[in-house]
Amino acid sequence: AAPRVVVIGGGFAGATLAKYVRMWNPKIQVTLIEPNPTHVSCILSNLVMTGAMAMTDITIRYDNLRTKYGVTIVADRAIGIDPVNRKVSTQNGTVIPYDKLVLAPGIDFDAIPGLDPAVVPHAWQAGPQTLALKGLVQSVPAGGTFLMSIPKAPYRCPPGPYERACLVADTLLRNRRAGKVIVLDANTDVVAEPHTFHTAFQTTYASVIEYHPSTTVDSVDWANKTINTNWGPIRVDAANIIPGQRAGKVVASAGLLGRDPATRWASVNPLNYESTLVPNVHVIGDSQGTGQPKSGHMANSEAKVCADALIRYFAGEAPDPAPMTNSACYSPITAKTASWLTVVFGYDAATGLMKPVPNTLAEAPSPSSEHYKDMFGWAKNLFADSFS
Ligand code: FAD
Repeated sequence: AAPRVVVIGGGFAGATLAKYVRMWNPKIQVTLIEPNPTHVSCILSNLVMTGAMAMTDITIRYDNLRTKYGVTIVADRAIGIDPVNRKVSTQNGTVIPYDKLVLAPGIDFDAIPGLDPAVVPHAWQAGPQTLALKGLVQSVPAGGTFLMSIPKAPYRCPPGPYERACLVADTLLRNRRAGKVIVLDANTDVVAEPHTFHTAFQTTYASVIEYHPSTTVDSVDWANKTINTNWGPIRVDAANIIPGQRAGKVVASAGLLGRDPATRWASVNPLNYESTLVPNVHVIGDSQGTGQPKSGHMANSEAKVCADALIRYFAGEAPDPAPMTNSACYSPITAKTASWLTVVFGYDAATGLMKPVPNTLAEAPSPSSEHYKDMFGWAKNLFADSFS
């Protein structure tokens, strides 16, 4: 019988894996379980928040996976995994058998007392919350206060929150409503592109952005529009609280995090992304914990390493002993300029993790309109390589 690969989650990680397994070996059956009819990309979603792009520009269809590559798509949510009998069960009651299972469910969020993301959106998963956030930015009165909070790393898209702070400040300045953008960072310093963002905060946005490192949000009292922090309460007009993050729920419920409650990400072998705890279950994308940044570009890169390893497995071969992956993030800094960040990772046999290859971590020397243009070419390629 044909080998069966089942994939949970059709984001950048799961879609790329489904496409590449079928493209590289059409003898393998691939079933993708994903409840949403389209994928709404977080990449470029901050430009929907500013109004520079529309939701339709970041909404990607699954048609090509089905028609061009023959992936079977099950529009459902995976709720249970039976690793002994190798079966996945879904919300609608379907049971799907597998030889190899790949989990790519993205992220889940910590709860913050008093915080209801339906009222104060994180917009860290693109979709209705992206538009809710856009409305909030527009609602800030002249001279008003917008507060943003950044969780402890690692979280999805290291430069993303700082990019968002710049774009909110830019929107307020352009609409002559500039008041304050208060940025509360749970980390001790800017996590990614420190040179770019410190410069932007201290020059371009010096009159608007107030940056506070080592600050955590303890609770939210939205009836009084008050955010309680580790150094006291702050009254605001609008807020975007991004909670701490962990592997998608289905990763935790499948027992892939291990027994230590502090473990937030799946423990996997980066040679093939197989769980170190449960055999024949692999985890890629933002849910994995191999030391690599949580980005769509990296999710695409990990998916190709995993696809190659699965194909070799079914052929009775060992995985590539020295895989390499890479990531790029473009960050708009103003309505017309962008910066970028790139890095290459390689396998480190001593730790069994992935490590940055020396001298490959680079950020743009300064934001420019050229980089802004390049950003759309890069995103178009990544969307096409992952989904079509
Ligand atoms: P996701 O894209 O979240 O996909 C997970 C999928 O799994 C979803 O479709 C979900 O519906 C599905 N799913 C979850 N649970 C189940 C279940 N039980 N059953 C079935 N399906 C399930 N990355 C970059 O590379 N460059 C950038 O410039 C960049 N900019 C960003 C800007 C912002 C504002 C944000 C928030 C993120 C940005 N990212 C960027 C990060 C990028 O979006 C993520 O790293 C990427 O989406 C991770 O892909 P994933 O497939 O792991 O997860």
